[in-house]
Amino acid sequence: MRRLLFWSAVILFLRASVGFAQQSGQSTQQNFLQVARQLREEGLRHGQAFALLRELTALGPRVAGSPQAAAAVEWMRQKMVDLGLENVHLEPVTVQRWQRGDVEEARAFSPKTGGGITLRVCALGGSVATPPDGLAAPVIEVRSFDELHRLGDRVRGKIVFLNHPMNPVYLNTFRAYGEAARYRTQGAVEAAKMGAVAVVVRSLTLHQDDVPHTGVMFYSPNVPKIPAAALGILSAERLSRMIRLNPDTRLFLRLNCRTLSPVPSANVVGDLRGTGKPQEIVLLGGHLDSWDLGVGAHDDGAGCIHALEAVRLLKALHLRPRRTIRVTLFMNEEFGRSGGRDYAVSPLRNGEKHIAAIESDRGGFLPLGFGISADSLQFARYQRWLPVLREAAGILWLRRGGGGSDVAPLRSTGTVLIGLVPDSQRYFDVHHSANDVLAAVHPRELELGAIAMSMLAYLLAEDSGAP
Ligand SMILES: [Zn+2]
Repeated sequence: MRRLLFWSAVILFLRASVGFAQQSGQSTQQNFLQVARQLREEGLRHGQAFALLRELTALGPRVAGSPQAAAAVEWMRQKMVDLGLENVHLEPVTVQRWQRGDVEEARAFSPKTGGGITLRVCALGGSVATPPDGLAAPVIEVRSFDELHRLGDRVRGKIVFLNHPMNPVYLNTFRAYGEAARYRTQGAVEAAKMGAVAVVVRSLTLHQDDVPHTGVMFYSPNVPKIPAAALGILSAERLSRMIRLNPDTRLFLRLNCRTLSPVPSANVVGDLRGTGKPQEIVLLGGHLDSWDLGVGAHDDGAGCIHALEAVRLLKALHLRPRRTIRVTLFMNEEFGRSGGRDYAVSPLRNGEKHIAAIESDRGGFLPLGFGISADSLQFARYQRWLPVLREAAGILWLRRGGGGSDVAPLRSTGTVLIGLVPDSQRYFDVHHSANDVLAAVHPRELELGAIAMSMLAYLLAEDSGAP
């Protein structure tokens, strides 16, 4: 009888604890849903994201090593101080310095007919200049490296025109970019190996305008360095048509870009210090540098402002979670990714544990989801947060795999890498081009990205069951 009483008591106790655990799990979920609503209301009613982006982009293009990039570092540091973040500091980064110069000319002409057309062109980042008076040579068009390699000796002494369009059939335009980017980054090396004197590539965009898109390109130690430039899409189409009609078409190209000595720059860091486990960090980041043709409003001004505004929203609502939420704005993503690398290996990381790092570097368009580099068990835990993220910012899905190039070096320390994924349909209209200006960003879409980052950061920093 005693034994029966004992076991009844045990069962009653267990039931009560399970009930309590369920209830507290539910109330946590209820609390998080309430935070989600508060973040959305605060962001959509009093959001600062667009105003902050206006200030940042007013500094001008933020090419690594430029005075404007240095001004952006100081502007961001001051914003963090004004916001009341803790541990605000700069971490040194050495950056390559390349200048576009003020001459970019391309003209196709036919010696036979005497006709010619002017093409919209820009130098690729890192390219050497042409001779001061430019260079002219027969131009030869290919759609792929295979096609280029098959031409053999016919490439010698010519300008190679790599006319490889981004694949239009993918819904995710980053996939098409990923496949086509090697023609920009490796085109000069592949063409020079075969004796070409210069290379022009079709711009990486799915838009139908004539604005050329730049981006980094590489040389290889034992291969001659030849000038490399990108043509606007309509210019590329016109050149292709002209070559078809006149196979003797020649191209004139003139660029006066140059590479200077490396200069010191910095990553900018500021914390919302955690109340319970301050040494455990949830990082929010983007890259402060941009290309020079626009002002990097989407790439990656939007990402920097997403991170900054995410923390501002939490401060405005007096939400301070258990773990530290850190904003890190990386320098020099575009030209060698030195900011991300230097951050990960800095002695300042000793004693810090980065639980997760969320990067926004896909523009300021409407946020759709998050890509999460977690194993399936961890990922299942993230999935239960989806209703909360939906309530905050209309997040539709979470998928496995994601992150960003600045936070990638943290992977080796076991950090879960996460990337914000906005709608990508218009991203390559603006990417690395003169189209990347403030007017291309919508205030509400930008704010929703910040709200989404804020909510996920809060969950990661506060939920005791966080992965
Ligand atoms: Zn970027």
